[in-house]
Amino acid sequence: MEIDDEITEEMFSGFCKTFNETRTVICEFEKTDGGLRLSHADCAYERCSHRETCLVMQPVRDMERASEGKT
Ligand code: SF4
Repeated sequence: MEIDDEITEEMFSGFCKTFNETRTVICEFEKTDGGLRLSHADCAYERCSHRETCLVMQPVRDMERASEGKT
């Protein structure tokens, strides 16, 4: 199915400050012209108060910055 080619799934593990436990977050990325864009995260990333400092999601922030040309 074509949509499978447009969505990439990745898992990131580490300590979640919000839930105070080690966890694995499953993330889905959509392919864009500039790279990859997060379409779904299996945690509270979008509204999380630790969003900018969370080490679990550091690779996601790196991907977003790379897609925006901010590396
Ligand atoms: S972004 Fe927030 S909810 Fe998601 S893993 Fe990091 S600390 Fe936990």
